[in-house]
This record gives sequence, C-alpha cells and structure tokens, in this order.
Amino acid sequence: MSQSSEVQHKRVLLAAPRGYCAGVDRAVITVEKALELYGPPVYVRKEIVHNRHVVTTLQKRGAIFVEETDEVPEGATVVFSAHGVAPVVHEEARARSLKTIDATCPLVTKVHREAVRFADDDFDILLIGHEGHEEVVGTSGEAPEHITIVDNPDDVANVEVRNPEKVVWLSQTTLSVDETMETVRRLREKFPLLQDPPSDDICYATQNRQLAVKQMAQDCDLMIVVGSRNSSNSVRLVEVAVEHGARAGHLVDYADEIDEAWLEGVATVGVTSGASVPELLVRDVLAFLAERGYADVDTVVAAEESLLFSLPTELRRDLKARSGQEPAELTHDPSGRAAESLH
Ligand code: SF4
Repeated sequence: MSQSSEVQHKRVLLAAPRGYCAGVDRAVITVEKALELYGPPVYVRKEIVHNRHVVTTLQKRGAIFVEETDEVPEGATVVFSAHGVAPVVHEEARARSLKTIDATCPLVTKVHREAVRFADDDFDILLIGHEGHEEVVGTSGEAPEHITIVDNPDDVANVEVRNPEKVVWLSQTTLSVDETMETVRRLREKFPLLQDPPSDDICYATQNRQLAVKQMAQDCDLMIVVGSRNSSNSVRLVEVAVEHGARAGHLVDYADEIDEAWLEGVATVGVTSGASVPELLVRDVLAFLAERGYADVDTVVAAEESLLFSLPTELRRDLKARSGQEPAELTHDPSGRAAESLH
C-alpha cells in the first residue's frame, strides 16, 4: 500500500452484498404502504430502521416517530419497527385501542420464538447482545426472568446461572460473528453443557456484509462504511474492516461527511454499507470519490442474496380489502429498490 501522497493507481473496492437486507426493505415499504393506504399521519414506534436518511425521508411523507406507544393518540395506527418489541408493548397498544402493524423482521421474530421455547423448558438463556439496543430489549421482554444479557467476551466472567446443565445461548442478529464466537467459547469453558441455538441468530445479511468486508480489508488503505452511528451492523462493519487489515475505517451517514484528509496517501478505498442503508447514499460516496480520482471501481462479491419477505399480515389484509387482490410479493433487490423510492 502506498504511504506517500503521490498515489499512482487510485481505485475503489465495492463490497457485495451491501446495503438493504430483506427485513429493512420490508419495514420501509410497510411504512410507505401504510402512508398510502391510511393517509398521514402514521405513527412509528422507534426508528423504523436505524438510518437517518430513511427516517427523515419518511418523516417528510407524514410518518411520526415516537419513543413509546403512550405518545400515540388513542385509536391511531402505529407501526412497530424492524427491531421487534416485547410482548408488553403489544399489550400497551391494545389498551390504547391502537391499530398496530408489526414490521418486526421475521429473523428477529425467530429469535423471540426461540427465547419463549427455551424459557418454557425452564432454561437459563444467555442472550449475547448490546444492553439497551432495541432488539435486545424486545427479545429479553419475551422471558425476562430467564434471560441474562452478555454484552461481550469480558462479561462472561460475571455470568451466573441457576442450573449449568440447562443453559442455552442466543444472540442479537447484528453482531460481529467473530466476537460472538469468542463470547460463546468463553461461555462454554464456564458452562460445558451450554446448548447452541437451533439455527444461526446472527442473520444472513449481517454475516454476508461482514464476509465481503473481510475479503477486501487486507487490500484497503481506507474502508468507508455508509451507515448511522446507532446502526449496530454498520458499526460492526467498521470494526471488522480494521480487525482484518484495513489501515483505517470510518462510518459516514452521507458523502459530505468524508474528511478529505482521510484520502491522503490512499490508493485503495473500500466501500460498503450497513443493512439499513439506501443504495443512493453509496452512489453519492462513489461520486465523491470519483471526483477525487477514485473512478476505477471493482466489485468484490462474497455472496448472492435472494431472500424476500412478504408484508405484515395486517397490512396485506387491508391492501387486499382495498384492491380486491393479494398485494404483490416484495422483491428484494440488493441494489435498493425501496431506496430509490426514498430519493
Ligand atoms: Fe432482519 Fe438481519 Fe435485516 Fe435485521 S439485519 S432486519 S435481522 S435481515
């Protein structure tokens, strides 16, 4: 890698897959369709996905983001975000006669179901995840008396369980795969009979975006990750890039946040984006780099994605009642179809 400011061959390595996952695509389209169908305002509990651009664009269209259901007027429509909610939130919404549309990602719902099942079997559940993150709050709320949150490998020393013969680990969907495996290794040292989840909790999109970054990182003087600071999977991408050899890594919401000084002496810039990021923001970053000599772009493909989810049942029912037809299936396009509609 060049250390001089006289860089000979400037280029970009562009990660694939990057950006929108199936769960984010579905959640964003859910709010868009709800606005079309019911008219504004449509209330959304918490940020529908953790991305500034998505949230501000939906606000302009008439979505009102609230922290809790008690901020929603009685009888109004509220969408629950992709990160999921605890059962108590559904109860609060019922008590206020709210019309709810649940945009929880089906892969988060899967972890909720695992938590309920293991709690019913009286397991201690060690939930690896970030304390206070909305998804972790929602999952823990399924079985608070059975779940202990384990934030990172160093937390393992303090973990206590009732019965070390009946312990299982589950996890947040958007963690670093490597760090999670290290936490599990330490947990298993402490609790040799620790059970694994029935299937991966870290979702396909998180894993694939990290895989692409790992393949590129060694070759990158700088990795730019497009994503918001409160986006867990985006923050992890910066960490994974630096751990796997990128000389530097930065998270930006928008191209104009790129500091020109970061490009000093840089030959190869890696570019990727978190699972909640519209592709148009990546294109802005590529245009910014092209203007500074990084016009040569090679795509590094780590995986193909084709997963798609249908819209929440409540919304499908209302769309069908209006049109008399089943709503079209969502077609998840990694290039960010819903992102285009957000421009
Ligand atoms: Fe679902 Fe994974 Fe996307 Fe989260 S990052 S919304 S779990 S697909």
